Amino acid sequence: RMMAGALRSNASSLSTVGSILTNLQHESATPLPVLRHVADAMTEDMRAGLAVEGGSDLKMILSYVDALPSGNEKGLFYALDLGGTNFRVLRVQLGGKEERVIATESEQVSIPKELMSGTSEQLFDFIASGLATFAEVEGGNFRLPHGRQREIGFTFSFPVMQTSIDSGILMKWTKGFSVSGTAGRDVVACLNEAMERQALDMRVSALVNDTVGALAGARYWDDDVMVAVILGTGTNACYVERTDAIPRLHGTMSASGMTIINTEWGAFSNGIPLTVFDKDMDAASINPGEQIFEKTISGMYLGEIARRVLLKMAEEGDLFGRSFPQKLTTPFSLRTPDLCAMQQDDSDDLQAVGSILYNATQVESNLSSRKVALEVCDAIVKRGGRLAGAGIVGILQKMDQDSKGSIYGKRTVVAMDGGLYEHYPQYRGYMQRAVEELLGSEISRNIVIEHSKDGSGIGAALLAATNSKYEH
Ligand code: BGC
Ligand code: MG
Repeated sequence: RMMAGALRSNASSLSTVGSILTNLQHESATPLPVLRHVADAMTEDMRAGLAVEGGSDLKMILSYVDALPSGNEKGLFYALDLGGTNFRVLRVQLGGKEERVIATESEQVSIPKELMSGTSEQLFDFIASGLATFAEVEGGNFRLPHGRQREIGFTFSFPVMQTSIDSGILMKWTKGFSVSGTAGRDVVACLNEAMERQALDMRVSALVNDTVGALAGARYWDDDVMVAVILGTGTNACYVERTDAIPRLHGTMSASGMTIINTEWGAFSNGIPLTVFDKDMDAASINPGEQIFEKTISGMYLGEIARRVLLKMAEEGDLFGRSFPQKLTTPFSLRTPDLCAMQQDDSDDLQAVGSILYNATQVESNLSSRKVALEVCDAIVKRGGRLAGAGIVGILQKMDQDSKGSIYGKRTVVAMDGGLYEHYPQYRGYMQRAVEELLGSEISRNIVIEHSKDGSGIGAALLAATNSKYEH
């Protein structure tokens, strides 16, 4: 069905589109002072969250991970990863310092839409049954000593108040999940109950956030990894903190003197430049007022923000002609991978941009509307990437200020994972350049931002090994 647009002269429509674009670029701009403010506010919010529980937007969750993989881990371990769009199971045979990863196998299934808003039992039954099917066939490369229970590292990528390394209470869902009956419950108990219903005898040895898994996975190969950031459907970061810099611990030190803090930075909101499109999207979301940083920088939302801008341009400025298809009004019809694909089109007629727009929203476009669409993508992706960079600098600053002696003089690795980071070169470029702008070229030479592919899967298995109930 076509929606009728109001009658307007072509000239006034064009200037309307132009002014919507100019406003968008203006309101979402992230010049250096804005980035600096965001980085400083991130640092301050981190400190406030470490000082008192509930002291800031950032929950600064204690992960109970205070020993990172050493490379000596040995044996067969499983990992289970429930995150944004996919659910993954994995097994790994670890061979210690010399042999490292002897074999891995994994399987991935997308989470059926209806399970994201069903009941807790339905979701955990789905996970446990996927795990059961996977665990059934364990090939010859994998060896479990006789009489031992299989152990799992459970990566659960939502804000969980950890109560120990192998238990934790879901505080709230994010990323479009609205499953009933899980918030307030121990997610390991939920999984255990579902495994019992499947008659599956496995033990969760470690419950970790995906950032924590990514940090552990990357650290296994590189001792300089200090921070892990996920930029995918959702976003978050964790880092290595000194226990004596955590007032909330009241002097309780870990044996290593350090621990990993899961910042839950998606909830950050201080000083982020927001447009009317962000505010409307937030108001229409299932978690209004929450996860504002996540809603401006992560993959679940960038496409939707762009759709809202294009819709307004179509309604008020006839961007796609006098009328436009209903599909353009459908929330989330334009996805972040669509923005990415459009931005890779460097042809003269922007043919690919046209067909991507058409496939996603059924709009017919010409060269000038395609150019506008690209400008819209760029404004949103630029803000997202640059703010992500400012967030990273906020964490580095915190580590630097509260460490004995600057961290900036030596190599520090930030492990990155998530589809947005991995697959969106423009986003990645904006992020990297923002880090360099903020830190200056000398310091940023020591900061290595690198992709840790699949770190969180292996990382969770490694943490299951570290916390195994058996001697390995
Ligand atoms: C969750 C985090 C998670 C991040 C990346 C956010 O929505 O709150 O716990 O680490 O997404 O998956
Ligand atoms: Mg994930």
